[in-house]
Amino acid sequence: MLFTHFGVSGPIILMLSMAAAHKKACTFPMQLRIDLKPALSKEKLDARLRRDFEKYIRKEAANGLKDLLPQRLIPIVLDQAGIARDCPVNQISREQRQDLADTLKALSLTVTGTRPIEEAIVTAGGISVKEINPKTMESKLVPNLYFAGEVIDIDAFTGGYNLQAAFSTGFVAGTAAATKECIPCEN
Ligand SMILES: Cc1cc2nc3c(=O)[nH]c(=O)nc-3n(C[C@H](O)[C@H](O)[C@H](O)COP(=O)(O)OP(=O)(O)OC[C@H]3O[C@@H](n4cnc5c(N)ncnc54)[C@H](O)[C@@H]3O)c2cc1C
Repeated sequence: MLFTHFGVSGPIILMLSMAAAHKKACTFPMQLRIDLKPALSKEKLDARLRRDFEKYIRKEAANGLKDLLPQRLIPIVLDQAGIARDCPVNQISREQRQDLADTLKALSLTVTGTRPIEEAIVTAGGISVKEINPKTMESKLVPNLYFAGEVIDIDAFTGGYNLQAAFSTGFVAGTAAATKECIPCEN
């Protein structure tokens, strides 16, 4: 997952956006919750916070988190946890520390929409696979018409599956079309 100038991106977000864009019942804004420390259990995260706060006991909260988070994320996390950025580390209560751990395990972002179609990675919809002969990719409705790739109603997670689908269907369609017996035109 990536934080970008327009919002969040990266493979996991692309996968989620596919579900969000697909579901007609889904309406924006949506809440997205991000576990910023997936490798740490709540208990381990709390122990880590205690260690860091001991190390930075004379600093302000924003500086107490510099070993744990990228600099620009710190104020956002503190704001969501309800801890003042300039709160001295030695005045952060146990409850506040737990709120901080909760925020780190479920940072809440509001998603206002997906990026425009021009930036889409894959399109959903197209020619139904039910109308295509899978052995040749020829239309079942219109003879001598072949389909491959994006024009077919198939879409998959990012990671090479869509390219593979385009290559495979393109190979089958091309081979089948080239080897089809020519039907002489009338006149
Ligand atoms: C930014 C981006 C990243 C992607 N990353 C991945 C990835 O990591 N993994 C993955 O599996 N898939 C990925 N995809 C999806 C993948 O690229 C497509 O699914 C795949 O290229 C579809 O192949 P296609 O041949 O059906 O269509 P396209 O690759 O779109 O090819 C269609 C071609 O037809 C041409 N064309 C259009 N109209 C006409 C016309 N009237 N006359 C002549 N030519 C025309 C176009 O110029 C184009 O060259 C990505 C797509 C984008 C946009």
